[in-house]
Order: sequence, then C-alpha cells, then structure tokens
Amino acid sequence: MMGAGPVPIPHRVAYANSIVINHLGETMGKVIAQVKDMGRYVFQTASPHVLGVAGPGSAAMEMAITNLVEPGSRVLCVANGYFSQRMGEMARRVGGQVDVLEVLDNESATPEQVEQRLRQGRYAVLTIVQGETSNTVCNVDLQAIARVAKAHGCLVIVDAVCTLSTMPLDMDAWHIDAVITGGQKGLSSIPGVSLLAFSRDAWTAIERRRDVLPHWCLDAKLADKFWNQNSYHYTAPVSGILALHEALRLVCEETLARRFGRHRGCSEALQEGIEAMGLKLLVPKRARLNSVIGISIPEHVSPDRVRTHMSKVHKVEISGSFGLNILRIGQMGEQCREHHLFRTLHAFGQSLEAGGLHLDLPAGMAALEQKLSARAMAL
Ligand SMILES: *Cc1c(COP(=O)(O)O)cnc(C)c1O
Repeated sequence: MMGAGPVPIPHRVAYANSIVINHLGETMGKVIAQVKDMGRYVFQTASPHVLGVAGPGSAAMEMAITNLVEPGSRVLCVANGYFSQRMGEMARRVGGQVDVLEVLDNESATPEQVEQRLRQGRYAVLTIVQGETSNTVCNVDLQAIARVAKAHGCLVIVDAVCTLSTMPLDMDAWHIDAVITGGQKGLSSIPGVSLLAFSRDAWTAIERRRDVLPHWCLDAKLADKFWNQNSYHYTAPVSGILALHEALRLVCEETLARRFGRHRGCSEALQEGIEAMGLKLLVPKRARLNSVIGISIPEHVSPDRVRTHMSKVHKVEISGSFGLNILRIGQMGEQCREHHLFRTLHAFGQSLEAGGLHLDLPAGMAALEQKLSARAMAL
C-alpha cells in the first residue's frame, strides 16, 4: 500500500480497531479526552474545540465548511488542484458565494497573489490546502498566506488531510481557524474516522449563527455534545476512534519533530532514487510535497499498465492520478520505512522497464541507499 492513501496501519492500531465498547461509557469518556489532548499536540493548538467525525476526510472538510460558511457569505477558494477545488464546491453547496483563485503550473500559492484577490472583495472565509495530493504541490507559504487572510478578516480553513503529522503545521502560531484531517494518510489510522479542530474565533462564529444548518450529522454544536459534554449525538464509530487513539499515541511517542524528520528523510531519499533512475518529478523542488511524490511518465508508457504490473508481480500498490500523466507514490506514516522504500523503488523501476522504458535501475537503488545511509549516520 504505497499509494496516495489509505496507508498501512501498525499492528497496534489494527488491534485497537477490533474492539467495541460502550460509546457513552466511562472508558470512552477517557479515550475521547485523550484523543482531544493528543489531537491538540498534533494540530499544535490549545483550542478546546477538537472534534471527530464518522466519515472520510471529506466529511471533516464538509463539517468545517458547513459550520463556517453562511449562506451568502463570500469565500475565496485557493485552488491548486482537485482537493482544494472540492472545498470550493462544498462552500457553494451550502450557499457560499465562492471565488476561485486558481494557482497554475504546479506552483505554490503566494501571499502576494492571495492578498491581491483579498483586496478586491470582503471575504469571510478563505479555504486552502497544505498539500495537494492530486498533483503533489505543497503550499509552502501557508503561514504567510494565513497571516494575510487573517489581516483581511477571513476565517482560514486548511485541508491537512495528507500532511498532518508529516510536516510542520502550527495551527495557533499560524492563526488558522479550522484544520481538517483524515485517518488514513499521515496519521496511519483507518479510513472513516476523521479529526478536525476549530480555533476560538471559529467557534465564536459558530455560536453566533442563528440559522439551522442543512447537515444534522455535521453540525458542530451538536457534535460538541459528544466530544465535549459526554452525551449523545450519534453513535460514535467506537472502534475507529480507538484506532485513531492508538495512532495518535504512536505519533506522541515518536514526537512530531522526529516524525517530520523521518518523513522528509525517507521522501527525499526516494525522490533522489527516482531521479537517479532517469525519471522526472512533476513538481519543481521549491513547491514539491514530500507526503506524496508525483512522477512524470513518458507519453509512450501507460501508467495504468505499470501500476497493474507492479501490483500483480511485485504486490506493491501505487496510485495513478486524475487526468495527469503521472504516477504517485505515498510517503505518509507507515509508508516512510526504509524496507518499504527499497521494495517500492525496485518494483517501480522494474515495472516501468517491463512497460518499455529504459532506465538505470541500479543507479536509482544506489542513490536511495546512499541518501538513507547518510541520514542514518547523521542521526
Ligand atoms: C485524501 C484527501 C482528501 C479526501 O479524503 P477522503 O478521506 O478521501 O475524503 C482531501 N484532501 C486531501 C489533501 C487529501 O489528500
């Protein structure tokens, strides 16, 4: 499972996921308290408004948007690709007046671009993705963009589904109002239970609303009953929350600093290995995401056939893409382990050769080994 998610889960997370307990009992109360505490560490926030949702990352996304975008309010959607566009679509569906700032050419959005658009209208909400999984672009100036947006009075919603716990994101220090994530990517938990955090400003806006939200399940004030008041909203996905609890505990045990280092080290080593084989990465280094690597595939080779060969012959799964001529290899959570890197790079190179490409596979493997060894020496 070396694609763009879901990613492999540790045995302890799988074990936690096999347990069902009373969703409103004393044990669950303790588990929820710890999920929120550990969540605050992972989001880097002191906000009391950490909530979970039974659903995919998109449900957390929709929860943030439904609660913060009022009918008629203006939304600036910074769009680098497929997932950031989805936030615009969701905002439109709840009646937001959405303008899209399209960032072209596989580049990061810049604070200047965003500020220029913000000057043209009074926006209530800005949506942006930290890592755009679809084309492997990273918004490297997220902090500066959030600062500009706050200065213009926006609530800032950040999609960190593929990046949370793989690279720095300081919710409070960066003045972000809602951070959303899923279980099945950076956190290496199961898909289907997601986590999000609202800032105090965001919560004030939520409490001030007098209209009734169109989504009952995603209503943050109702979810708060379960997440902060120990009472019933809907039956929580108990097993999935236990899995998430264990995944978060493993993040805390590793520490964010070491986890970021592992992700960067592994991803960069794999990137060098891929380039040394003679391939090109889609995104220039300055705007490149480490959590998912996008590799350009020459015209005469079929990405789907390469993927099928890799899966059938080598039992390694990677991802295609939405319309781009790239293949994507994930570097999130458990995917960032050295043994996975060697196996994946070998399987990838061999499958491309089987697809008719001439590569220097030994050079790629050697580059990967060198980079990983250099990192091990430095640790
Ligand atoms: C995967 C992903 C999503 C969607 O998550 P689902 O769990 O599939 O709903 C949203 N944003 C980003 C950046 C992602 O990588």
